[in-house]
Amino acid sequence: MRLQDKVALVTGAAGGIGFAVAELFDREGAIVVATDVKPPEKPYPGAIEAMTHDVTSEEQWATVVAAIVKRHGRLDVLINNAGIIAYEPLDKLEMKEWLKMIAVDQTGVFLGMREAVRVMRKQQTGSIVNISSIWGSAAVAGAHSYHAAKGAVRNMSKNAAMTYVSDGIRVNSVHPGFIHTPLTDAQAPDLNDAVIATTPMKRGGKPIEIAYGCLFLASDEASYITGTELNIDGGYLAQ
Ligand code: NAP
Repeated sequence: MRLQDKVALVTGAAGGIGFAVAELFDREGAIVVATDVKPPEKPYPGAIEAMTHDVTSEEQWATVVAAIVKRHGRLDVLINNAGIIAYEPLDKLEMKEWLKMIAVDQTGVFLGMREAVRVMRKQQTGSIVNISSIWGSAAVAGAHSYHAAKGAVRNMSKNAAMTYVSDGIRVNSVHPGFIHTPLTDAQAPDLNDAVIATTPMKRGGKPIEIAYGCLFLASDEASYITGTELNIDGGYLAQ
């Protein structure tokens, strides 16, 4: 019960990492609102509440957070998890694809933090965890827009951490390495194998391994941690 009675919002929770976070937080006593653009891949367990939510929409962020505050009176934890990936290198990247990536992976995090901070400042407490990536801190060839957005998420997290530190709001980023999820399952096996081959542990991670990191940062156990980045990557970024 490490999140007993905390009200938590998890975005992009229909499957993969977000689903695992929602499930774990529910088990740990949180009141969990799980949102996504699509229905969950299997029914949410426990008392998890589901809402449809496109993180690129300013209006929908306002609606979702207002509904949570109306129903539960507060918002203690935001996990900005929703995301997409794309692999085009810089010279092949179309404007439309660039804008789509920035809208979901970067603007979605901006809108989420902005809406959450407005509530958390009134409470003078809150924890925000933004899901970045190993490619928010280091680079491989290609995937230019993804690197741009995930790198921005890393620094946006640190900026928000500094800006709201005196409001009792902690903001941290989590940087997963290769994780087995619907997102990576849909990718070419040779692409996945190449990332795993360069991972010191020589395996992909499980969504629950990311969820445990989010649990720690969301909980009061991390009360002295803000502006940091937690790499959960099988050793990838230590090389
Ligand atoms: P996933 O299985 O695809 O889950 C992400 C969810 O977000 C999907 O249900 C997706 O729906 C949803 N989504 C997409 N656009 C959205 C929007 N505009 N509004 C709300 N929801 C939206 O991916 P995952 O692997 O669990 O990834 C979760 C997060 O971890 C992402 O931010 C990702 O970049 C990050 N990450 C993942 C890995 C990895 O190896 N899996 C590594 C590093 C970082 P659709 O399926 O319709 O797009």
